[in-house]
Amino acid sequence: MKLTRILAAAALLLTGCSAAPEATDEITIVTSTQIWADIAHTVAPDVDAHAIITGNETDPHSFEPTAADMAQAKKADIVIVGGGGYDAWLYSALPEDTRIIHALPLVEHEHEEGHDHDHGEEHGHGEAHEHGHDHEVVNEHIWYDIDAVDAVAQELATALAELDPATPVDASAVAKKLAPIRSTLNSIPAATVLQTEPIADYLIAQTKLRDVTPEGYRDATLDEQEPSARDVAEVLDGLAGVDILIFNPQTATPTTEKIRAAAEAAGVRVVEISETPAAGENYFEFFAAAADRLAQ
Ligand SMILES: [Zn+2]
Repeated sequence: MKLTRILAAAALLLTGCSAAPEATDEITIVTSTQIWADIAHTVAPDVDAHAIITGNETDPHSFEPTAADMAQAKKADIVIVGGGGYDAWLYSALPEDTRIIHALPLVEHEHEEGHDHDHGEEHGHGEAHEHGHDHEVVNEHIWYDIDAVDAVAQELATALAELDPATPVDASAVAKKLAPIRSTLNSIPAATVLQTEPIADYLIAQTKLRDVTPEGYRDATLDEQEPSARDVAEVLDGLAGVDILIFNPQTATPTTEKIRAAAEAAGVRVVEISETPAAGENYFEFFAAAADRLAQ
């Protein structure tokens, strides 16, 4: 529990005590998805890291935590999120002393005037804050960016060392697991890809692949809107000249299924890239498998 640790640290400071700190209760980490929990386990195998979204049965874009999820997160010493709007449901509702580690910038809460009033009721109306304001749309699938993941691992190692210098941490363990994935991505030959959702932007950026998804369709899906009939028609027309269709099975809609069927009919190779690892699957295996499918 956080308060105990802070008081223990303060007591040590006050007495100028140089003895090793007493064994305090354990550090806890809560993460939005299993991805960040797997990264935390790799950096610090002894630390308890718990993901709120596990498995791949839900679409994290429309996830809503339970009260129990949030109670657990509020007790955590460290919370790890991807950032952007993807997991704002987690990081926007935490106590001020929670250390939040994030790969992408955190989105400001829409109703930020008057921090002293209770936001509890407004959280039921997610739609109202998500699409009502002008914002630069950031691609939130940041766990496919090796450098960004590496930076999170390093920041976590630093944060853990500050909380308890006795905790064994090794950020380079993450870099080691990512190195073969980087090689796979480097080995992928040049080709054109079209995406049903911009799930693989960061993956593509680390390869010679070129994304030719029509702009209108892309902008709509990046903003989590349903693309217009015209946008969809443009995608269907463009499929014949494309080498690979990247299909996200976790956010499938009748529209994306239709695009997939058309791609298959046109002999376009379909590669599935999803949001989160399956239950029991590790993030590093999940990422490596996605890179391998693209490299095939
Ligand atoms: Zn997505």
